[in-house]
Amino acid sequence: MRIPLSAPDISESEINAVVEVLRSPRLSLGPKLVEFERNAAEYAGAKYGIAINSGTSGLHLCVRAIGLKADDEVITTPFSFVASANVLLYEKAIPVFVDIDEETLNIDPKKIEAAITPKTKAIMVVHVFGRPSPMREIAEIAARYNLKIIEDACEAIGAEYENRRVGNIGDGGVFAFYPNKQMTTGEGGMLVTNDDFIAAQAKMLRNQGRDSSAEWFEHIALGYNYRLSEINCALGIEQLKRLDSMLNEREAAARKYDARLKNNPHLILPELEFPNGRVSWFVYVVRLRENFTRAQRDSIVGAMQKSGIGCGRYFAPIHLQPFYAASFGFRAGDFPVAERAAERVMALPFFNKVTDAQIEEVSATLEKLIENAL
Ligand SMILES: *Cc1c(COP(=O)(O)O)cnc(C)c1O
Repeated sequence: MRIPLSAPDISESEINAVVEVLRSPRLSLGPKLVEFERNAAEYAGAKYGIAINSGTSGLHLCVRAIGLKADDEVITTPFSFVASANVLLYEKAIPVFVDIDEETLNIDPKKIEAAITPKTKAIMVVHVFGRPSPMREIAEIAARYNLKIIEDACEAIGAEYENRRVGNIGDGGVFAFYPNKQMTTGEGGMLVTNDDFIAAQAKMLRNQGRDSSAEWFEHIALGYNYRLSEINCALGIEQLKRLDSMLNEREAAARKYDARLKNNPHLILPELEFPNGRVSWFVYVVRLRENFTRAQRDSIVGAMQKSGIGCGRYFAPIHLQPFYAASFGFRAGDFPVAERAAERVMALPFFNKVTDAQIEEVSATLEKLIENAL
């Protein structure tokens, strides 16, 4: 792609920090892990940070740490990356999808209560595209029905909701550091929590179920290797130092797209402002208006790609993924708001160093393709 959909932003100081680790004898479970966890917890405002080798691993550890098990029901959104529901299936818990709010693309809090049953144990909240979910309403429902809250903040590090950083509002929250995220460690993630028990469980399960206070090689539970190496942690420490300035660059890019495209009558653009909080711009996703079909959107996305411009269909709804449809019998029409949104979304090239000229080329190409599709 001449203009990629996303691009990591790695500075010389980050390269140096990684090389320094490579010249040291400690490549895993060393001082960089301790420092990265401390800094990330502080950034989120949380008591604990537990680094793991992916966002998915972190979400799985949350599921294990809060004790979800077979047949427990967990309320979540169908409009997300598949990992937020997959981690429930790892423990044979049951994802109960609730349709989304058409404006925010996050779970619709007005529809949650109707989905609660005596088996409901938790809500897996996803802050889609870095826009905070309505945590006040969700927390009220969770308190009323005694449900735990896991925050999938994998797309939302640095987003704020009523003066709190997302990820640190529920019982446990997770950030992800894959190269397309706001900050990266190559692969990696960070679980944050204020809960002593969840933190201890996550640490133990991350390292093959080893109790840190027990004898060497004493395993007290079925754990995993979800460790994050010193190399990744060194990169994470440096990226985190620049996170706020990177988030500012991303917000500025979103504002430029908005200014360029806001008069186009065929597009719905993401809201720039978030009341009592802040969006952390993960991707810039526009939507075609209601009258466009999925086929028209697909042909526009295809033509964008053909002209060398990265363009993605974020997201295909989870319940219609072939594996979910086959396993649970979901069908088109089950969650109509998510489905209609999914048919019309297009992620445009979006990264820290996207230039004005690139934004202009992307916008002009998109507008021309929309006119041709009419
Ligand atoms: C990126 C992402 C994850 C986890 O990603 P990993 O690739 O496992 O680090 C989970 N949920 C959502 C919504 C994501 O976007």
